[in-house]
Amino acid sequence: MLPRTDHIWHPYTKYSVWAGGQCPIIVRGKGPYLYDDQDNRYLDAISSWWACSLGHSHPRLVATIQKQAGILQHSILGNLSHKQGLTLAERLSSWTGGNRQIHFASDGAGAVEAAIKIAVQYWHNIGNTKKTTFASLQNPYHGDTMGAVSVGFMETFHQAFRPLAFPTHTLPPIQCDPKRCEFSPPHCTGACADQAVAMIHQQEKELAAVIVEPLCQGAAGMKMYGSGFLQRIAAACRDAGVLLITDEVAMGFYRTGTRFAFDHAGIRPDIVCVGKALSAGTLPISAAAVDRAIFETFRDHPLDNTFYHGHTFAGNPLAAAAANTALDLYEEMDLPDLVHSRSQAIQKALTSLEPIRARHLGLIMAAEVPDPQRVAKALLNSGILTRPLGNTIYLMPPFILTDEQWSELLENFVSEIKNSF
Ligand code: PMP
Repeated sequence: MLPRTDHIWHPYTKYSVWAGGQCPIIVRGKGPYLYDDQDNRYLDAISSWWACSLGHSHPRLVATIQKQAGILQHSILGNLSHKQGLTLAERLSSWTGGNRQIHFASDGAGAVEAAIKIAVQYWHNIGNTKKTTFASLQNPYHGDTMGAVSVGFMETFHQAFRPLAFPTHTLPPIQCDPKRCEFSPPHCTGACADQAVAMIHQQEKELAAVIVEPLCQGAAGMKMYGSGFLQRIAAACRDAGVLLITDEVAMGFYRTGTRFAFDHAGIRPDIVCVGKALSAGTLPISAAAVDRAIFETFRDHPLDNTFYHGHTFAGNPLAAAAANTALDLYEEMDLPDLVHSRSQAIQKALTSLEPIRARHLGLIMAAEVPDPQRVAKALLNSGILTRPLGNTIYLMPPFILTDEQWSELLENFVSEIKNSF
C-alpha cells in the first residue's frame, strides 16, 4: 500500500483535491488503460494530457527505450551530436515540409520559448531590432514558462504574472461557424479574418511573429476554427514580412487527421513547435522546426549570431529514440484513414446531441455542458478518465483503441452528456 498523502505539488490540481487525498496513485499502464494501486482501471480518454497517442506500454516503444537505455542514456547536443538526434531531426524536417533545422527541448513550453527567441534574434541578426513583439489569437495557450505565458496569456491561469509578461497583440476573435460562414480554403471571407489581416499589417513594423495554435485551441476548451482562417493569417504574415509560428504541441502527429494541423491549410509556417505526441508521450522531448533560411542567419562570422539557448536534456537520446519509433508507428498505422472513420462516427454523435453545443476536429470531440465536473465524475464511475476545461468536456483518446473500445467510449460519452441536461 502506497502512502495516500504525499509531497508532490500536483500541477493544475486544486489544493482541496490534493488535501482530500483524491489523486489516484497510478501504478501501471497498458494499451488505452491506466491502473491505480487499488487495481481500478481507467480508460485514458485524454491520452494523458494529449501526449500518449499510442496508449501505454506499447511493446515497440518499450523495446526501443530498453534497447537505447543499454547503449546511450544521455549525451549533450552542445558541440556533440548523436545518432538518435540526427535521425529524428532529419525526419522532423521532412515531416514539417523539409529544409528545416531542428532545435530540441524537453517540453512544449520549451519549444515555444525557443521559437519566440529564435524569431526575435532572427530579425536582430538581419539588422532589424524593431521587430520584437508578437501577436496571438484570443484565449491562446502556449505553455507556462514566462515567454509562453506572454504570448499565450490565459486570465484564469496566469493572472498573477501579468506584470511579468511582455506585451503581446491579440488578434480579433475568430467567428468560424459552419452554419454562418464558409471557412474552407480558399473561401474564407470572414470579417474576422479581414480584421486579423489588417491588424498584422498595421503592426508589421514591430511584429517579429504571429503565433497560433492551428485549427484548435486546446486549453481554451477545444475551440476550433477553419483552415481558411489559418490560410489568411499565413498569407498576411508572408505579405507583411512577419514570421508565422504554428504551435503543434497539442495538434501535431495526426490528431486532426493530417500529420500536422497546418497541413489542412496547405501552408508552410516559418517555425513549427512540436512536443507531447512526438514521443507518443513516453519520454519528454519537444522541438522547434525552423526554416533553414532563418537558421542561416545564425552564423558566427563576421558577427557572432550564435543562438545561446539550450537545455541540458534537449534531444536526449532515450527520448529521441522513442520519438523515432513513434514516428515509425505513425507511418505504419494509416492514421488519416483511422481518424477519418472515427471522425465520421463523431459527426453522427454530434447530430444526435443537437441542440447541445458540441464540436469535433479529427479525433477530438468536445461538448459544452452545465456541470462538466459532474459529467467527468459520472464517466469516471464507468472507468473513463477525462479532464474538463472550463465548461467543456472532451475526448482526445489514443489512436490504438479497438473499434469496440472506441464505440463503447463514444456511446458512454454521448449518453453522459445527454444525462447532464
Ligand atoms: N502549446 C500547446 C498548444 C499546448 O497545448 C501545451 C500544453 N497543453 C503547450 C504548448 C505546453 O506544453 P508542455 O506542457 O509540454 O510544456
